[in-house]
Amino acid sequence: MTTEAAPAATKKHFIHTFGCQMNESDSARMAEILAREGYEATPTPDDADLILLNTCAIREKAEAKVLSALGRYRLIRNQRGTRLGVTGCVAQQEKEKLLQRVPYLDFVLGPDQIANLPGVLEKVGAGGRLAETGWMDSEEYVFPRADPESHRGQVSAFVTVMKGCDNVCSFCVVPHTRGREVSRHFTDVVAEIAGLVGVGVREVTLIGQNVNSYAGGCTFAELVRRVAAVPGLERIRFTTSHPHDLTPELMAAFAEVPQLMPHFHLPVQSGSNTVLERMRRKYTWEEYFAKVERLRALVPDLALTSDIIVGFPGETEADFELTMELIERVRYDNLYSFIYSARPHTSAIRHEEAWGLVPYETAVARLERLQKRQREITIEVNRRLVGRDVEVLVEGASRNDATKRMGRTRYNQVVNFTGAAPAGAFATVRIATASVAALGGEEMSHLPPPIVAPPPPAARAKTLLPIVSQSPHGASCD
Ligand code: SAM
Ligand code: SF4
Repeated sequence: MTTEAAPAATKKHFIHTFGCQMNESDSARMAEILAREGYEATPTPDDADLILLNTCAIREKAEAKVLSALGRYRLIRNQRGTRLGVTGCVAQQEKEKLLQRVPYLDFVLGPDQIANLPGVLEKVGAGGRLAETGWMDSEEYVFPRADPESHRGQVSAFVTVMKGCDNVCSFCVVPHTRGREVSRHFTDVVAEIAGLVGVGVREVTLIGQNVNSYAGGCTFAELVRRVAAVPGLERIRFTTSHPHDLTPELMAAFAEVPQLMPHFHLPVQSGSNTVLERMRRKYTWEEYFAKVERLRALVPDLALTSDIIVGFPGETEADFELTMELIERVRYDNLYSFIYSARPHTSAIRHEEAWGLVPYETAVARLERLQKRQREITIEVNRRLVGRDVEVLVEGASRNDATKRMGRTRYNQVVNFTGAAPAGAFATVRIATASVAALGGEEMSHLPPPIVAPPPPAARAKTLLPIVSQSPHGASCD
């Protein structure tokens, strides 16, 4: 699979990715499937023969963005007969209804049906309009393996280790759009990572909706240790974790596995036990905080980030104050915070009248207060690094200033710096400035990346980009 020659590209595709890292990874797999079907990526939708919208349904706003993007792509379709498909969570949620609602849409493809993309394109080519959104049996599900050649030149890569979610958080649509949990066997995960390292990848982020409940032949902590044993792999991260399923074994891995970076994204959602119970999160804030303290005892410099929902039905001012108290206690390095959005099929939507809807203006005011305070904390945390020399894994040119380089600290902070370190190098950077979004500094020295073997003659040296993405690297979700 990794070295087979693809047919000469005769058609062009453009994939617009919304939402989380799972979608980024799915888009990369779809791009690889399309390359085998004779498509190549184009940087603009304007000359694409196929446009895919890989969608997110986590909040209403995410869904609205998909519909507005579809409206824009309609013009291209009308002009040049481009095929339009919707994949991902909105596809799974809406199924055939989306074809009725969007008459110019050619097909709808659920996340479990990615491997069927060629078959669907064939039917569409023959004049069909269809929705393929069935679930695959857990036993039959085969995780598509990443083609290392399409990652050549990348420093960091997402690696899917499980899919779906067996939790029943009352606000969350994921179990309905991604189905039951299925874990990928550790041998497959390790083999994929070894292939990625062979083309120069130095950091992997193991991804799944709830990686803590991974069960692919070993525990998640064991998986981390097996991945750390891949020669040449320098950094490991993972996301996302449910606090209830966080084991002492995984906590210990942070202290014991040098490749596991000291950054943990541990979504708490609320600091009020009443709200947490209504959210069906299966922990109290005290239990959550005890885990944080234990982690910090093991790894004192551990960077912690989290997700918080404000304006959950029934959330009182006193409940919100408890959330504010929790963020003071934990002092997160960063937070992803959202206003509650009612989602179809969830249990919260059935109870929200009874619990009491929080007026939108109240939710906005709470969100603003929370984010303002968190910005202050993040700046304080980041400023502690000013004047210090930090290790940065270089990813390439800075996005905002092409004369600078960009990389990430061990704690996952973005660093823009003056220097000459190539992508894949470890640079020592003296930090001079700190903002909420990034650190700035100057390179002191760097260790160049190892020399990577050239691609085998038959392999495609093809990058996956462009896959238009709306989620920042490392973010919980859009
Ligand atoms: N599995 C992770 C966990 O257990 O916390 C969360 C993954 S979810 C895709 C990412 C984040 O989106 C959640 O942590 C939550 O904060 C937010 N989210 C999910 N559903 C939401 C909703 N209905 N309204 C607002 N935010 C929501
Ligand atoms: Fe959604 Fe995460 Fe809860 Fe699963 S654990 S239902 S993905 S919030």
